[in-house]
Amino acid sequence: MPGPLLVDALALPRYDLGVDHPFANFRQEPLFDLLASHRLVGATERFVPPPATVAELTTVHTADFVEFLQALDTRPTRELIRHAPLFGMGTADNPIAPGQHAAAAAAAGGTLACMRAVLRGEASAAFNPTGGLHHAMPGSASGFCLYNDLALAIVEALAQGIERVAYIDFDVHHGDGVEWIFREDPRVLTVSLHETPDRRWPFTGRVGDMGRGRGEGSALNLPFASRTTDESWQTIARTVLEAAFEKFRPQVLVTQHGCDPHFSDPLADLCLTTASFDFAAQLSRELAANHCEGRWVATGGGGYQPIRVIPRAWTMTWCAVADRALPSTIDPQWHARWSDRAAGDLATTFLDAEQEFAGSEAAAIANAAMLEEVRRTHPLLR
Ligand SMILES: [Zn+2]
Repeated sequence: MPGPLLVDALALPRYDLGVDHPFANFRQEPLFDLLASHRLVGATERFVPPPATVAELTTVHTADFVEFLQALDTRPTRELIRHAPLFGMGTADNPIAPGQHAAAAAAAGGTLACMRAVLRGEASAAFNPTGGLHHAMPGSASGFCLYNDLALAIVEALAQGIERVAYIDFDVHHGDGVEWIFREDPRVLTVSLHETPDRRWPFTGRVGDMGRGRGEGSALNLPFASRTTDESWQTIARTVLEAAFEKFRPQVLVTQHGCDPHFSDPLADLCLTTASFDFAAQLSRELAANHCEGRWVATGGGGYQPIRVIPRAWTMTWCAVADRALPSTIDPQWHARWSDRAAGDLATTFLDAEQEFAGSEAAAIANAAMLEEVRRTHPLLR
């Protein structure tokens, strides 16, 4: 029996957007330190994938965009930098930094390698914590995302003869890039759970957006009210995903585990605790087992508490991918190593202590109405 695989994020190149940018370049370090502290990853389970090649990147991205990012790495002339906004670069969200093409191609190569290993039966399931860059569009960067690793992996699965791929996006922001890329493709079901577009960037992902043309019905959006808490989110996630998978019958699953729906996240306003991240990981495992013969590629994504939340959230993802028990308390030595750098109190347990959030009842009522609308209108749930 093949075991699980984990992309060795610490061995991949990265870039630095500066201390004020939320996409912290050290965000993988506390995670890998936590995994090591609890001895959760075997030596043969950690692997260093090759970067995605230009030929692979252009299965999703335009040649212009890939050439532009490559040129930015090798010869960033003033002329080139002047053109950056055409490609979504040089903005507040996507500033220009040395080594971006190399780092983004490495992250994309990770998700691609995970997909290949899963399809070949070389891995029971696989996790790329550097992947999950769901906002990237074919011709431009968006929302801290340069290359859309998720779309690359899905395209690879289709190229290998897989007939139906399901994608679940748990990030607090709408998975707009992946949805847009496959909006007319009936072979790819994209499901996104996010904070309502009335309040949250990128302001897309309404219940009525279900795909286009032949792809009508293959996008499924669950926009949650601000202040949503665990119970409402989990109930709706399970109800909708189980019903949609029953009808769509996917053969492989790709998931994005952005942990920015956490109540402490500075970039959004959902109120989930880490219990929902564990729930999302376990539900994904269950859906992959019941529908996809276990074939599952998981990725990271957003999450802007690199010490307080990411390490716990993605340890949960890895434990589900590897089918390993989650420890309950955090290794005290890890805690001692990172508590000075954490902004605010650092938890000593994987699950957050239960909390109450103002406005969560109104959110639950709005979410129940949203679920009714999905049930009434979406072809996979009617
Ligand atoms: Zn996000």
